[in-house]
Amino acid sequence: MDKIPEIEAAAENIRQNVYKAIKNSPLSAKRVDILAACKGQGAEKIAAAMTCGIDTFGENRVQEAQEKWPELKKSYPHAKLHLIGPLQTNKIKDALELFDVIQTVDRQKLADALAKEITGRKTEQRFFIQVNTGEEPQKAGIAPKEADDFIRYCLRDLKLPVTGLMCIPPADQPPAPHFALLRSIAKRNDLHELSMGMSGDYETAARMGSTCVRIGTALFGERKPDKN
Ligand SMILES: *Cc1c(COP(=O)(O)O)cnc(C)c1O
Repeated sequence: MDKIPEIEAAAENIRQNVYKAIKNSPLSAKRVDILAACKGQGAEKIAAAMTCGIDTFGENRVQEAQEKWPELKKSYPHAKLHLIGPLQTNKIKDALELFDVIQTVDRQKLADALAKEITGRKTEQRFFIQVNTGEEPQKAGIAPKEADDFIRYCLRDLKLPVTGLMCIPPADQPPAPHFALLRSIAKRNDLHELSMGMSGDYETAARMGSTCVRIGTALFGERKPDKN
């Protein structure tokens, strides 16, 4: 597969920035995955990212992933695919076939349905709970004050293998308090994975303990507006 110089340079730059961010921070994780948020990107750009050593990818829509990934996975069986957009319960079977990690478990109905679907299956899948740290009405995610109960419910009652939390802070606020909140919820529930940080704030997130920064624009360049 061919490299794309811009993506190669961007990947290297992001890696160095993450490394610098975590180097001297007492809060940072030992290892931070760089997840390429590849909504709207075609196979060439995704493959180019893989040739730069990026092996974790995030898609927002089940249907788009179904169109792109069966073919890509043939060539890149080691790639890990995460769902980072909302999941409807009628898409659960498809999602479980495609994704290694579902980062957007955000309501009881969905958790119930996922647990029912994986019962009896031998699955390596992991699940993150999305927390609406800014309590924005239009945004997905469990409210922070309901998070502890919901996490316990998923782990104890449903035996859903939840290993982490994910958040998307409000666009118009400094992200650090949101990252701190997510981190504190994870800590008191003994969850070890934190998906936080995007192109504009991944260094802050990495400093504050992110284990998975989700990078779109800074890696692939600007998206076409209609592909969001
Ligand atoms: C698109 C997207 C990203 C990446 O956004 P950029 O700002 O382009 O890095 C991260 N997380 C989610 C959930 C997204 O939908």
